[in-house]
Amino acid sequence: MRKTVIAGNWKMYKDLKDTEELLQGVKAQAASAPSFVTVIVCPPFTSLQLAGTLLRGSAVKLGAQNMSEHDEGAFTGEISWKMLKSTGCEYVILGHSERRQYYGETDAKINLKAKKALASGLLPIICVGETLKEREGGITEQVVATQVKGVLDGISASDMERVIVAYEPVWAIGTGKVATPAQAQEVHAQIRGLVAKLYSQSIADKIVIQYGGSVKPDNAAELLAQPDIDGALVGGACLKADSFAGIFKSGMQK
Ligand code: PEP
Repeated sequence: MRKTVIAGNWKMYKDLKDTEELLQGVKAQAASAPSFVTVIVCPPFTSLQLAGTLLRGSAVKLGAQNMSEHDEGAFTGEISWKMLKSTGCEYVILGHSERRQYYGETDAKINLKAKKALASGLLPIICVGETLKEREGGITEQVVATQVKGVLDGISASDMERVIVAYEPVWAIGTGKVATPAQAQEVHAQIRGLVAKLYSQSIADKIVIQYGGSVKPDNAAELLAQPDIDGALVGGACLKADSFAGIFKSGMQK
C-alpha cells in the first residue's frame, strides 16, 4: 500500500516569528498521524534552519521549495542540496508552476535538479500540470506526458522509486478552482500508466502521485479517495495550522 503524503508549500509567506507559531500548531495536530500518512512542510529558505530545529523528533518532515542543480559555486541567490540537508530537509519541491512561469524553469532544468536531489539523498516532489488553455485545447494528456518524460529523463529505476510526482493543473493553483476528483484521477492514472511504460508496473504501483490545486479541508477527502491520488501538495490552505490539519486528517481516513 502506498503512503499518503501531504505537503504544505508555504511559498513566500511567513517570517521567523510566524514560522514558529505555525509549526507549533502543525506539530501538535500531526502528533497523532498514523505511519501511513507523511506530513511535510516546505517553508521559505530563511525559515528552514529554525523549522529543522523545531521539528526535530516530531512527526512532521521538512522540505524546501527549490534547489540549485549545482553543488556549489558563484551562483548568486541560489541554494544547494548540501545547504538544505544541513537544515534537516529531506524533501524538495521542484518545477513548481510558479518556478516555470516566473523564473523560466524548463523540463530540462528541472530534470538536472531532480538528478542532483536524488544523488544527494533528498526526495524530490516534481510538479507537472497543464494550463487552462492547454486543458481547453484538449491536450492535457500530451502536455503532462511531455513534462513527465522530460523531468524524468535519465533517472534510473532505483531512483524513480524515491520520486514523488505532483500533478498540479496550473488553472487550479491559487484560484479556488479545484479539479474535480474525476478530472484529477484521470490524469493521475495517465501519469501512473506512463511511469509503468517508462519503468515498470511495479515502480508505477509504488510511486506517490500527489494532487495540487486549491486543496482545502472540505474537498481533500474526495480527492484523496481516488485510487491514484496518494496525497496533496497544498498552497494557501497550509498557511493556517487548522486548515492544513483538516487536510492531513482527511489523509488519515484513506
Ligand atoms: C501550490 O502552490 O502548489 C498550490 C497547489 O497552491 P494552492 O493550494 O493555493 O492552489
